[in-house]
Amino acid sequence: MTTTQTAVPEDLRASVALSENMFIGGQWVPAASGATLDVEDPATGEIIGRVPAGDAADVDRAVAAAKAAFPVWRASNPAERSRLINRLADLIEENADELARIDSLDVGMPFAEARYVDIAFSISILRYYAGWATKINGDTISPSFPQSFGGGPFHAYTLKEPVGVVAAITPWNIPLMMLVKKLAPALATGCVMVAKPAEITPLSTSVLAKLCQEAGIPDGVFNVVSGLGSTVGAALTAHPDVAKVTFTGSVPTGKAIIRAAADTLKRVSLELGGKSPNIVFDDANLAKAIPTAGMAIFAGAGESCIAGSRLYVQRGVYQQVVDGLAARANEIKVGPASEADSEMGPLVSATHRDKVASYFELARAEGATVVAGGEVHGDSGYFVKPTVLTGVAPDSRINREEIFGPVVSVIPFDTEEEVLAMSNDSDYGLGSAVWTQDISRAHRMAAGIESGQVWINTYQPVDPALPFGGYKQSGWGRETCRESLEDYLETKTVVVDL
Ligand code: NAD
Repeated sequence: MTTTQTAVPEDLRASVALSENMFIGGQWVPAASGATLDVEDPATGEIIGRVPAGDAADVDRAVAAAKAAFPVWRASNPAERSRLINRLADLIEENADELARIDSLDVGMPFAEARYVDIAFSISILRYYAGWATKINGDTISPSFPQSFGGGPFHAYTLKEPVGVVAAITPWNIPLMMLVKKLAPALATGCVMVAKPAEITPLSTSVLAKLCQEAGIPDGVFNVVSGLGSTVGAALTAHPDVAKVTFTGSVPTGKAIIRAAADTLKRVSLELGGKSPNIVFDDANLAKAIPTAGMAIFAGAGESCIAGSRLYVQRGVYQQVVDGLAARANEIKVGPASEADSEMGPLVSATHRDKVASYFELARAEGATVVAGGEVHGDSGYFVKPTVLTGVAPDSRINREEIFGPVVSVIPFDTEEEVLAMSNDSDYGLGSAVWTQDISRAHRMAAGIESGQVWINTYQPVDPALPFGGYKQSGWGRETCRESLEDYLETKTVVVDL
């Protein structure tokens, strides 16, 4: 590790080095096979860490550790679970800058994004679910059985019980938050977890494991197995002792997980991709709508499942919006997170940069006009320019496929019916936004759009109390919010003949 650590600031090295081992049953252990994977800084391409490349043997160990911890954790006092979750939130808060710098180094996002989205939201999610730990109750029910049953009167009630060992498989775009969205409700409900972070951004997950132990969360309740999706992910989704898989990532992987989980009928929840429509009517407040449309697609370098990648603009203000958005794209300072004035970092990997760049070529081939960006940026690292496209056919690939980069198509429309049809003509249904001063139209559009989130005159405010999830191929189930707790619970019905 000494040769690779030179690219890591000295004060982060001890935390980054945690990822050299996996965290299983409270112990830091190498992969059974001894194999490792390199971790890169996407701003430079330098190797910044090396993680164990786990396999099925490591998954067996981690699932066994979680299974052993389950009886103790599920029987623990809910108020104690609440206290420990809050303690974990405190520790993340105390280490917020370091965690933000680690995710910033690993993913490439500017420090402010890491600190005030990834880390800040992780803390608030934990506090939200710490509150729920003491409020998970069943119901008392008065049954009206037919007389033919005989007996009675009857008393019936339900018990809410944790499902057991949960496998959490997460993507690389906002590493800590994506995992905490799963860990917090699992801990609150009394479930135990084996987490598999994305192989290219594993660093903050190891720090999270260390902080879980420091918080006093019992060994085995939270375990980490690093490695590839095709080995560790596949082993987790097929493991007979895993009761539930909670996954955030791409649609193809989501489908593979459903198939793999079918043999053991695991519970599966999925947060998948998006191609979110952002709809601007003539009467919108453009002073807010235009910069927000820029934020919607360029924040996080567009590596966001809710990126506003399809911008539909009513014809009367179309040119004004195109010009304003292109001006914004051209002024964004693209650069490494290590430079304080960088507004947009690199894409996460060379592979992903090449995928996004291939869409620049596709856009031109499909007849689109590049009004800003449309090319890679700089000679080192994996940067691309914020990109605005016009002349995009609504049914072109560029407007249908999730690019997961800072690329937006701006498409004109005339009527409400037309834009609703275009918005819903998608396999996805994750985010959406409507900009208008007409309150009736806003509510009509909100009712008509097929997506899990509709934002009116704003874009992507997130809160732990708000359900988050997708319609159609954007996923199954909801994260954050009260109802997500149900994903981690079984309901047992008890009937007593009094
Ligand atoms: P991905 O599907 O390639 O990988 C996600 C995770 O799945 C990784 O940990 C990977 O190792 C693992 N994996 C891969 N193959 C697997 C298999 N066969 N079995 C089990 N696990 C496997 O996704 P990605 O490229 O890391 O992330 C980008 C995608 O995630 C985008 O589509 C984006 O929209 C989506 N995403 C969705 C949300 C949401 O909340 N809806 C949030 C962030 C990202």
